[in-house]
Amino acid sequence: MEDCIFCKIVKGEIPSAKMYEDEEICIFKDVAPIAKVHLLCVPKEHFAYLSELNGAREALLGRTLGKIAKLAPALGLEEGYRLVINQGENAGQTVHHLHIHILGGEPLKWE
Ligand code: 5GP
Ligand code: ZN
Repeated sequence: MEDCIFCKIVKGEIPSAKMYEDEEICIFKDVAPIAKVHLLCVPKEHFAYLSELNGAREALLGRTLGKIAKLAPALGLEEGYRLVINQGENAGQTVHHLHIHILGGEPLKWE
């Protein structure tokens, strides 16, 4: 996707603070953090919504959650963390490339 900001981050075309990268995902710092640790985990493949999942993407998402769990202590999340996936307008999704917000580094409020 030519105009997708997260595709550009994945390709290194715009700078980001990358914390982890492998052949299928990338984790980088959110530019406007709402918690002490606020990271974004994105699949390298561009798709916007969970409604676009297929077998391969479901497996990718499963592996991704496992990777986040393994990486958590090294990312400063040893005391716990919250994962958020905003979907669509009511959730306030602003970037239409699927991403998992990883929040932690401090006690998180739950309203
Ligand atoms: P959404 O609201 O779509 O779930 O989340 C998009 C997130 O992307 C927001 O938290 C926003 O701060 C972050 N973001 C938007 N543009 C950039 C950028 O260019 N670089 C980084 N690192 N984060 C971005
Ligand atoms: Zn994209």
